Amino acid sequence: MLVFILNAGSSSLKYQLMNPVIKKVFASGICERIGIDGVLKHEYGDGKELKLEIDMPTHKEAIEAVLSTLTVGEGKVIDSIDSIQATGHRVAHGGEFFQKSTLVTEEVIAKIEALIPLAPLHNPANILGMKICQELLPGKPNVAVFDTVFHQTMPDYAYMYALPYDQYTKHKIRKYGFHGTSHYYVSNEARQMLDKKRNTRIIVCHLGNGSSVTAVLNGKSIDTSMGLTPVQGLMMGTRSGDVGAGAISYMMKQEGLDIDQITELMNKKSGILGISGKSSDLREVLAAMHDDERCRLAVDMVAYNIKKYVGSYVAALDGVDALCFTGGIGENSALIREIVCTGLDGMGLVLDPIKNNKNRNDARDIATNSSAARIFVIPTNEEYVIANDTYKVVMES
Ligand code: ADP
Repeated sequence: MLVFILNAGSSSLKYQLMNPVIKKVFASGICERIGIDGVLKHEYGDGKELKLEIDMPTHKEAIEAVLSTLTVGEGKVIDSIDSIQATGHRVAHGGEFFQKSTLVTEEVIAKIEALIPLAPLHNPANILGMKICQELLPGKPNVAVFDTVFHQTMPDYAYMYALPYDQYTKHKIRKYGFHGTSHYYVSNEARQMLDKKRNTRIIVCHLGNGSSVTAVLNGKSIDTSMGLTPVQGLMMGTRSGDVGAGAISYMMKQEGLDIDQITELMNKKSGILGISGKSSDLREVLAAMHDDERCRLAVDMVAYNIKKYVGSYVAALDGVDALCFTGGIGENSALIREIVCTGLDGMGLVLDPIKNNKNRNDARDIATNSSAARIFVIPTNEEYVIANDTYKVVMES
């Protein structure tokens, strides 16, 4: 089955064309600067790349450009869009409505719409993507795959905030968690890599521009670092992560900030960017850390925050069998992995420095042979999870 995978953001859109049954990717790419001018970067064949400047006033022209690039010209990989059997959409927030990936219907769209206040940037773009695919690929099923679903197994004592209870009953204010497809994929791979198949206690650190840590017990998420929205938890590229609530109200008062301004400050101007004053990109900050005190501080804070979550999730899981690193930082930064793991011997996690520093891009074990628990680097594959769920939902419908 050929599945078109769409991850629609507010001004960009990532796509892939994949057969999940044989795990084969035919093409992938990204449309950027939608609503400004429009650039399409398309990868196809064995690493061939195309960069096209195409006018994209809205998401509709962007998806039209993708479908046309897939079917005609140099980047062509299929003869006709009729070969696409279904589209899988990455959806940011499924709230408590969705416990699994779901066939898109009018009712499903209405529920995703109702969740817009919880994901004001992402859910509207996701809905737009669904409506455009219904129009451009008529008769072909659409499936919504939610970032939040994997965490719906968290127990109530983990997902509740200690606020007045009616904030939950009235507004569903609670922890939801995100990056669900990545945490699912990586923890599932880790379970297969472990000798042990029962009572598996796995911690996944998804470290990219957005970052989160999840505790996974027997394949189920029992706690995760992001919350009602993705701003909670680890320090990220531009998001603050955990900040005392008192600091937020005090800052609003001192700076005269309204809700939109404080939300922007905590989501777009904080994190690695806010501390380093240089960049949200960890690579750039790592390169400058020896001469720049604020870059050094940013790196130390990033690693320390991850380590604190790892330690607390070892406690939440009553021990650990595998600690996994994934995402751009988790897969590539041996230094961050090293700082996080230093001193965790008592928890059974002993990093092998030689294995950690080997430059490889496959799934691998970087713990010493005698380490009680494993430490894995596992490249994530969120698109595969979206394509596979789409395939399964369509087959069952
Ligand atoms: P996204 O969350 O947008 O998918 P990625 O998973 O690609 O992002 O992660 C981007 C982050 O990974 C950036 O902070 C980038 O600097 C970092 N990164 C990528 N390669 C390396 C590397 N070799 N060393 C350190 N950080 C890296």
